[in-house]
Amino acid sequence: MNVILLGPPGAGKGTQARLLVEQRGMVQLSTGDMLREAQASGSAMGRRVAEVMARGALVSDDIVIGLIEERLRSGTGGGAIFDGFPRTLAQADALEALLARLGQRIDAVIELRVDDAVLVDRVSGRYVCGNCGEVWHDRTRPTRVPGVCDACGSTDLRRRADDNETSLRQRLMEYYKKTAPLIGYYHAKGLLAPVDGLAPVAEVAAAIRAVLDAPPGGLDARSERP
Ligand code: ADP
Ligand code: AMP
Repeated sequence: MNVILLGPPGAGKGTQARLLVEQRGMVQLSTGDMLREAQASGSAMGRRVAEVMARGALVSDDIVIGLIEERLRSGTGGGAIFDGFPRTLAQADALEALLARLGQRIDAVIELRVDDAVLVDRVSGRYVCGNCGEVWHDRTRPTRVPGVCDACGSTDLRRRADDNETSLRQRLMEYYKKTAPLIGYYHAKGLLAPVDGLAPVAEVAAAIRAVLDAPPGGLDARSERP
């Protein structure tokens, strides 16, 4: 099963993707994480994208499509959760073609619906474990012991360089200009499932579980006969 998590920065895509990995043995494919790994490794590509990411612009389609292609080629077992990809119509087309080549398809597109007003708080309170990647929040999801990751015990808790208000404003503009059109696109394909992203994490997870237990299926899964 292949699922896309769609929503603005801070909507809760990474948080929910990690829960799906835990509960369903799916693989999380986060282009944001892949790009941050490339930066941390000091690769030429990582150095090229650092400035683009810091200012909250989108990295070029060919780079992120290349990253996804590489990961899909190495197999996704119980299915993939696309987190932060696709972000443009060109990326959506490329994903469809890549999956078709593997005899696969997208089964559902979960749209995490949130108000812009909560995003500044979501993003400015976010911190992530540098060891296991668990996502925390100062107010809504703090670690039990300050400075120690509940999931793995690491004290390597980090803030993201782009989690500031200026970058968030730019990321939101990019989202509305280039990514939000995907909502209509996947709706037209019969794949869209909106979920209330303002609810507590466990409730959002339950709503997503319900969608995945009865996926929308899409146009090509529907019979034309009455
Ligand atoms: P995205 O991957 O969409 O950018 P994240 O999953 O990283 O979003 O979540 C952004 C921040 O909001 C994190 O600090 C996370 O702990 C917090 N968060 C995620 N989902 C919820 C929720 N349903 N309610 C409250 N806070 C949440
Ligand atoms: P994220 O971790 O999803 O919030 O992404 C962080 C940043 O990485 C974004 O602001 C973009 O600069 C870049 N990025 C991540 N995924 C993509 C994508 N699919 N297309 C273009 N840029 C991306």
